[in-house]
Amino acid sequence: MSQQPTDAADSSSCNCKVGRIGGRYDLTDLDDELVRYWTDETDDRYSTRALATHVNQRVLEAALDDAGLQYKDGEIENLHRLLTDDDVSSGTRVQTRKELERDDVPVEDVVSDFVSHQTVYNHLTDCLEAELSSPSDEERLERSRDKLGALRNRTSAVTEDTIAQLERNDVLEIGEFDVLVTVSVNCKECKQQYTVRDLLEQGGCDCATQ
Ligand SMILES: [Zn+2]
Ligand SMILES: [Zn+2]
Repeated sequence: MSQQPTDAADSSSCNCKVGRIGGRYDLTDLDDELVRYWTDETDDRYSTRALATHVNQRVLEAALDDAGLQYKDGEIENLHRLLTDDDVSSGTRVQTRKELERDDVPVEDVVSDFVSHQTVYNHLTDCLEAELSSPSDEERLERSRDKLGALRNRTSAVTEDTIAQLERNDVLEIGEFDVLVTVSVNCKECKQQYTVRDLLEQGGCDCATQ
């Protein structure tokens, strides 16, 4: 007789994507791990991006276990990279998927069960009500990067729409076009100019960090 998991031992009772895959893949202690790694007060604390990678590697590991596959140390991490990293060529990715499929891993489902850092963040804060006392510098930079990236994408999309609309109304003539949005920051002290991306990357202006 199987019991419905209504008892207190079932800690991931939320119905968000992280909760659902935790149940489906039987990822024990996942919630504890996520909260512990995220709120760690030392330099070892994970960003939500690193946590999403951790969740997805556990999903992949569970899927390989289910398929009865043996794997070596570091192989899960490498497979995860081959399946998700933008730097991996599409040929290599397809090849990796084929090999996993041949080994009876339902790779399509597994990849669609991968979660984003935003999903992990929502799970931590909404479902588990975890809180960071103060975000790490890395977390702050990551959030700022995301925020500014979204703003750039939006600026680009609105610009493209506006130009296309003017063209449709015969107010403006243009062939195929691309919109590039570059935001730059000028240091008034030394007149150096940075793209906002470089400035965040570098952590300050040359004149201030000497
Ligand atoms: Zn959740
Ligand atoms: Zn400067």
